Amino acid sequence: MSLCYILPVANQSNNRPVLRFAPSPTGHLHLGHALSAFENERWAEVTGGRLLLRIEDIDTTRCRPEFVAALLEDLAWLELPFEQPPRRQSAHFDDYRQALDRLAAMELLYRSYASRAEIAAATGRGGYPRDPDGTPLYPRAALAATDDRARRDPAEPYALRLDMAKALAKAGALAPALSWREQEKPGNGSIEAIPAAPERWGDVVLARKEFPASYHLAVVVDDALQGITHVVRGRDLYHATGLHRLLQSLLALPEPTYHHHGLILGPDGEKLSKSARSTSLRALRADGATPAQIRKMAVIV
Ligand code: GLU
Repeated sequence: MSLCYILPVANQSNNRPVLRFAPSPTGHLHLGHALSAFENERWAEVTGGRLLLRIEDIDTTRCRPEFVAALLEDLAWLELPFEQPPRRQSAHFDDYRQALDRLAAMELLYRSYASRAEIAAATGRGGYPRDPDGTPLYPRAALAATDDRARRDPAEPYALRLDMAKALAKAGALAPALSWREQEKPGNGSIEAIPAAPERWGDVVLARKEFPASYHLAVVVDDALQGITHVVRGRDLYHATGLHRLLQSLLALPEPTYHHHGLILGPDGEKLSKSARSTSLRALRADGATPAQIRKMAVIV
């Protein structure tokens, strides 16, 4: 295994900000995606930055080619000036492998074999600590026998998890009191240091036997490789940023500035769903909406 990790991080020397919109093709784009794309466009305009598109299609079980084609068509219809071609995660599995190799060389990964049912049994019904997405933290100690590699068949599926305690110790030595920079608005907007608190995520899955990288790993690698200076995305990913900062610190990747914008909520008060026809961009277009009208609709009220 190579200890020499040379991720060809994009050259940021020309000092132009770099923004990106990064949809996952697991369904049709809706007004919430349009809002995020327009926010990135606005930040790029105000700062004279570049506007990149990344298709987060790493999860081949949930992403579908027809949704990729549909999102490209929707974004072209909205006349969003993304640079071409977009980066597609499915074409870059080696990049994620290198990052995993690096973490493995630091002895920060372990294999967990426990099934969902075993995890559920070990964490009980309520009261068990959960991560910001509501998933119970991985009960490593309770599942030590299940995860004992020596007892497993090498053909069995497994998840590669981050050993959070070790990762925190390592990162603490690299950069005590990890935080991220949250910028209020583009240009000269004020910047606040937000404590990262990555321990809230426990031993997160970073890859699986047949799955090259989780969202959390892929996003930090891609942001570095695309030279992203400003990550502008929805508030639903606010707490994930703390984990992303930990991974950036461990992998010695550059630290972008973040802006988490508000979300468009449905009548039920929940964020919009990809399965809801009423707010899908294609349905609105089919009903006669123009790109200008979508721009007026894609706002937080
Ligand atoms: N692919 C993610 C999504 O569609 C966005 C990831 C990001 O912006 O960091 O929710």
